[in-house]
Formats: sequence, structure tokens, C-alpha cells
Amino acid sequence: MPFVQTVLGPVADTDLGRVMAHEHVFSLQPGGWMGTDVDAAVAALLPLRDLGFGTVVDLSPYGVVGRDPDGANAVALREVAVRAGLHIVAGTAVYLESFAPDWAREASVEELAARFVRDATVGIGSTSVRAGVLGEQATGLDTISPFEERAFRAALQAQRETGLALFTHTTHGTMAHEQLDLVVAEGVDPGRVVVGHLDTQLSADLAQSLLDRGALIAVDTIGKQVWDFFLGPVGGDRAEGEFAKQAFFRADTRRADLVAGLVERGYVDRIVLAQDLTGAECWMNPDTHGRLGYRYLAEVFVPMLHERGVDEDQVETMLARTPARLLAVA
Ligand SMILES: [Zn+2]
Repeated sequence: MPFVQTVLGPVADTDLGRVMAHEHVFSLQPGGWMGTDVDAAVAALLPLRDLGFGTVVDLSPYGVVGRDPDGANAVALREVAVRAGLHIVAGTAVYLESFAPDWAREASVEELAARFVRDATVGIGSTSVRAGVLGEQATGLDTISPFEERAFRAALQAQRETGLALFTHTTHGTMAHEQLDLVVAEGVDPGRVVVGHLDTQLSADLAQSLLDRGALIAVDTIGKQVWDFFLGPVGGDRAEGEFAKQAFFRADTRRADLVAGLVERGYVDRIVLAQDLTGAECWMNPDTHGRLGYRYLAEVFVPMLHERGVDEDQVETMLARTPARLLAVA
């Protein structure tokens, strides 16, 4: 019988409810990407239960968005799951090169793949919390560095060995086809791969071309209309002077247009939705994540989809059936 590996152990794939498919529950406080604030996570997640959600997928890679560099605080996800009354599925991955821990940057493809497999079969870091999904595995803005390619190939090799689904991070939606080229090169079924952050690009043609190669896509930054970020980690000894940043505006009305258009074209069972809510962006999005937190998707975005002709059953496919299919392993 298919099951889903949560931080508290296996559960039936029929028991997930709606699924927030790409979140970071220890990154809800602005002012730093580290910090295991269980109380804040529980308070933020509790409203999801009244909106039909039973599961949250925490896709935090080693060393960023709330996951310790050695994965030790993955164990705290158990307390969040118990107190919030939600299933939590933990991912494992390494992020963009500039954010990755030293041990990962120095590792070979084989060593990284072995790490990810161990995370799924024994436990993340030194914990006994098993990863139930791979990701978010990242590639850069218009480029894939040699390290990012090694790590991406390692995640794909771990996918083949474990059968777990792989969720990716694209930076501004770039390098998505290059990710799928690696998927094909490593002999992975694109139907087990979700190309992430396609709504930071908002190109229906791009989304459809990825779907037509057999992959799934994630519209997973819903509510993050304004985004402004450093291209490398902040802190340490910064050089005085100018530095590079990226910023954009992506309206949720256009995210809804994208989803509704793809649903109309028959892709409803290969789209997943999420907010990728992190405290670092709440202040820039006061009317979405700032005011409503995790409630935004169900309370505001789903009605936008209905206005565009997406029916309730199609919403349940995207929020419940497709994530369950992805997260289930035999
Ligand atoms: Zn993310």
C-alpha cells in the first residue's frame, strides 16, 4: 500500500488532506534564515487546519530557510507537526552554491547522492527524521554552476534509488529546461519531478513546454508579489560599495491567469500550488503573506481561480490529489 514518509513516520497517501507543497516552517521570522522557532511555526500553521489542509511540505535545503547546515534541527519539525496537528513532510537538498554549506560544496556527486539517500532511509543529518521528498534542489539565475550541477545530479540519483519525488528551485524560472535535460540524462522519470517557481517567470509557453516534456510544475510563490533579494548571502565582511540584487513584481491575478489557462488546456493533474512563505518577504507583501499568512492561498487565491472557471474538483486535484500522488511511495 502506498505511503507517505512524514517526520513522524509513514502515513497513508489517502490521509494527507490538502497539501501546502513548498514551504519553510522555520523561516517565518524576518531577520535571518536560521532559527528553530517552534512556537512561531505552530501559530502560523494552525489556521491551515480549518481550510482543509492536513499536510505541509518543508523543502528547506541544508543551511538555508530554517534548516541547520548539518540538518540537526529537522528533529524540531516533529514538535511542530504534533502541536499544529498537521503532517509535515521534510525535504532534503542543498541550495544555490553561494548559500550551500562547506561540506556540501566539497562533496562529490556520489557523496551528495549517498547523503540524500541516507536522509531518506535513516534520517536527515544525525537525526532519525527521514526525508519524504527531495528538494528544493536549486539552480541559479540564467546559469547552473558546476557545484549546482553536481548537487542536482546527486538529487536525481537519489530519486532513482529512493523513488521519492524531486521538487526543484529555479531562480526566476530560468534554467528550467536545463534542469529537465539533467533529469533525462540521469534516467529519471520526469513525472516524478516538479519544476519549481514557474510563477516567478509567469510564461504560459514556458510552463506548457515543460509540461509537454512530462514534468510537473509548481506555482508555489503565491502571494509573493514583490520580491527583492540578494544574489548571495548577507553578512560577514561585506565590501564597501554597490552590489547586485534582483527585484520583481508578479501579480497574483496573473498567477491565477496562468493556472486557469493551463487547467483549461488539460494540465490540471500536473500543477501543484504553494506560498513559499518566508518572513524575509512578508514586509514587502503586507496584503498577502503579511496580513493572511498561510491562509492566503485558500482564502484569496482559490476564489481567483474560481472566477476564472476553475471548479472545486480541479482545485482539489491541485491541492490534494496531485501532491498525494507525488509524495506516495510504494
Ligand atoms: Zn522555497
